[in-house]
Amino acid sequence: MDKKDYAEWYLEAVEAAGLSDKRYPIKGMNVWTPYGWKIMSLIDAGTRAEMDATGHDEVRFPLLIPETEFKKEADHIKGFDSEVYWVTHAGENELDVRLVVRPTSETAMYPMFSLWVRSHQDLPLKVYQIVNTFRYETKQTRPFIRVREIHFFEAHTCHADEEDAQRQIEEDLGILERVMRRLCLPYHLLKRTDWDKFPGAHYTVGIDTVMPNGRTLQLGSVHHYRDNFSIPYDITYEGADGKHRHVHQTTYGMSERLLGAIVSVHGDDSGIVLPPAVAPFQAVIVPIPKKGGADEVMDAALGLEAVLREAGIRVKLDARDERPGNKYYYWEARGVPIRLEIGARDIENGVVTFARRDTGEKGTMAADSVVGGVELLMEAISESMREKAWEFQRASVVDIADMGDLPESIVRFGWCGSEGCGLEFEETTELKMLGTPYPGEEYDGKCLVCGKPTKTAAYAARTM
Ligand code: ZN
Repeated sequence: MDKKDYAEWYLEAVEAAGLSDKRYPIKGMNVWTPYGWKIMSLIDAGTRAEMDATGHDEVRFPLLIPETEFKKEADHIKGFDSEVYWVTHAGENELDVRLVVRPTSETAMYPMFSLWVRSHQDLPLKVYQIVNTFRYETKQTRPFIRVREIHFFEAHTCHADEEDAQRQIEEDLGILERVMRRLCLPYHLLKRTDWDKFPGAHYTVGIDTVMPNGRTLQLGSVHHYRDNFSIPYDITYEGADGKHRHVHQTTYGMSERLLGAIVSVHGDDSGIVLPPAVAPFQAVIVPIPKKGGADEVMDAALGLEAVLREAGIRVKLDARDERPGNKYYYWEARGVPIRLEIGARDIENGVVTFARRDTGEKGTMAADSVVGGVELLMEAISESMREKAWEFQRASVVDIADMGDLPESIVRFGWCGSEGCGLEFEETTELKMLGTPYPGEEYDGKCLVCGKPTKTAAYAARTM
């Protein structure tokens, strides 16, 4: 595996780690393997814990949405019309009202919100769900990054006014920060241009991270809807003054692309490298048997496994009848953060040998304090994965002064804010405008297109 050829490397790394089986006979609908699903479930567990701690309730809405509800918000339907799947028949009967297979759940939830929200006492309403959504992708599919059945997290909220909805956006960005910290992933927050915001949104903040080939991957987004949806869906509440008003709404979404980013950002020529927080096995124990002393080594390995498991560390003892070298290779490709080796000499010296997956560094730790040793090591691994990834992301933003000879990375430049200049930039460079930094960034320059002085920088890139 050679990460320099990222596109090919990515597919090889996913395959070697056994994260997904792409042989299912529908393009873009891959099978989650047990190992891949465990990682995704650990990612979800972190998100769920954050949502529950901030007063959100988990819900589960139906997969199918009646066409009549789906079409209530005009911009929304324009944005999704070409990429939804339709259910048109039930048995042999053609349906009177066709059903949309959810591409996202605004139009499933909001008719219900209009029943749930009655008075100001019901606000804010904060719910989320983690479900599969469907979009008919026509571009080339790629596991976790571009698929037609998407494992999706979506939070939806209703508020009394625009300010309270804005506070929700800030809370979402705090949650995002903590989620991304666990995953050791860097990101940019960029307020999308008006011509690129989510269909129906007042504004959209995109969450982008940069891939090894300099392209950006959108990992999720946060949207402020104002009352753009609550008017067509008639979601109103009675205020303390007895007057009825429309709620203001927000959404926050992320997907299995988080796993695609973990693979892409942290992986190396030996395969994927998992952040300890979401590794199904945080440590793997490989016994190094010696002729005649095998029992003693296996006993020590079993003891080590029991102590670590007792301490809540996700540990795997690889007791297969295989050469240690083959086991190393196997678990490296699966990204296990720490390998522990135990052989006759380690037992004699009262130590355990460790190897870090992220740096390859090897060393020993005292056998009687192995829990503390592994915990410290996991912290050090997370910290160094985080730093390395952020460093790459920072270095990938390049200031440009003209539209020719563009680097393979994110570019930054002055923008007057006009749609005309933005579209001209996109057409000339064939890059996509990602938007302007959110909440903001100091800048003093000139619009790259029209030359007008501006205090706003825009970011653009090729996207995945
Ligand atoms: Zn301009």
